[in-house]
Amino acid sequence: MFVTATAMLPAVGSLCISRSPRGGPRFTMAVRSDVNVSVAPILTKLQKECATPLPVLRNVADAMTADMRAGLVVDGGGELKMILSYVDALPTGNERGLFYALDLGGTNFRVLRVQLGGQEERVQATEFEQVSIPQELMCGTSEELFDFIATGLAKFAEKEAGKFHLPQGRQREIGFTFSFPVKQTSIDSGVLIKWTKGFSVSGTAGKDVVACLNEAMERQGLDMRVSALVNDTVGTLAGARYWDEDVMVAVILGTGTNACYVEQMDAIPKLQGNKSPSGRTIINTEWGAFSKGLPLTEFDRDMDAASINPGEQIYEKTISGMYLGEIVRRVLLKMAEEGALFGNSVPEKLSMPFVLRTPHICAMQQDYSEDLQAVGSTLYDVAGVESSLKARKVVIEVCDTIVKRGGRLAGAGIVSILQKIDEDSNGAIFGKRTVVAMDGGLYEHYTQYRRYVHEAVTELLGTEISKNVVIEHTKDGSGIGAALLASANSKFDHDY
Ligand code: ADP
Ligand code: MG
Repeated sequence: MFVTATAMLPAVGSLCISRSPRGGPRFTMAVRSDVNVSVAPILTKLQKECATPLPVLRNVADAMTADMRAGLVVDGGGELKMILSYVDALPTGNERGLFYALDLGGTNFRVLRVQLGGQEERVQATEFEQVSIPQELMCGTSEELFDFIATGLAKFAEKEAGKFHLPQGRQREIGFTFSFPVKQTSIDSGVLIKWTKGFSVSGTAGKDVVACLNEAMERQGLDMRVSALVNDTVGTLAGARYWDEDVMVAVILGTGTNACYVEQMDAIPKLQGNKSPSGRTIINTEWGAFSKGLPLTEFDRDMDAASINPGEQIYEKTISGMYLGEIVRRVLLKMAEEGALFGNSVPEKLSMPFVLRTPHICAMQQDYSEDLQAVGSTLYDVAGVESSLKARKVVIEVCDTIVKRGGRLAGAGIVSILQKIDEDSNGAIFGKRTVVAMDGGLYEHYTQYRRYVHEAVTELLGTEISKNVVIEHTKDGSGIGAALLASANSKFDHDY
């Protein structure tokens, strides 16, 4: 498989290199003699339960493909929601004019403007600003939040100058990326199902979020209009497709995870005759909800039970950045309690949920020093733990086990989408170059994780076919993607 420059870093370092042919860690005996004997069986059991040999990956990929099909037949037919994006005009490169994007996805909102110059000139200019959302607005009223956003947008729009130009009599149009669960009802409307990620704003759930924003803009005297409401994966796909028409899939591997892809309308029975001229649309899979056939452990089950959404988002809880560090923490806590991994006392801080974050385990796995200095200091800083070299090696093995499972299962998800498209197009996908646009901090920063994603894709597809599959890291492409979709769905005349 070909990967882009950022993803081509050599796969060096982690202790998994020193595996015995049977997959067990070579230092097991050393662990037994140095760290308490009962650590080794916990590690061995963990590795066994998290193993993702080819048949397991194949089973997951096939089950996800089947689930996608079920979700396309009828809403609720499968675990994957297979949400219609109502995006059926993909960016072509011919787009012209000034468009805005607004991205509300977490603690910040971002505003962006882009001047598009058609095939020759492409992106002539972009500008963006990021505004953090005050804590009190995250649990205030809907009007307060949307007024704040509209005010920020108005201030940004006031600064429009230079290369940005709007033809006379034309209203400014916005692509609105809204990364909360929405039941989309058209390209420019969608009802908020519920707030997530720490937001508990009253009066928005059950309402059309585009109407909320339009009303706030009116209250602020801002003459702009939302012409496309898009999920962040859909924005990523659109942004990448603008540069490369072989892009068929977009995947987010960050705090959470999701994927979308280009689907033939004929392959969506639940669409019931609502066909567009292009015959294609983007489907937002919401694949984080998948759960079938995943190799799970007591640590996953306990974390899920303690979560705010038990029983939900199991795939997301196994592969995404919010959870990998927490799973490792739970394993280390058990090893400390039952195996005296860090000596006779159990470090108190290690009992705190989410003290160990995914960037920490990433930093530890990227420690190539002989005495694993960085592992030692991370454990000390995060959990107040003094660790022996042997204990540090065990910690790295645990990180690698969880991250390997996560990355490989993410790879299986990617293959599930590719094979779904291929089966429905009589082999049109695997016979040619196909691009998967990828965004998210986990994939971007975690070298080992990224390598495991690629490894699983190659194992599942075989070397020949996977040569045609390009996983392209497109950092923050969703903003421009949303602006492009605003252009594609503009109510004004198209120049193309
Ligand atoms: P979001 O998914 O919230 O939109 P990002 O795509 O930037 O945001 O991803 C952020 C996530 O990426 C973090 O929650 C974390 O899990 C992961 N991450 C960030 N930095 C690192 C890092 N250095 N190493 C490993 N994972 C990281
Ligand atoms: Mg994001």
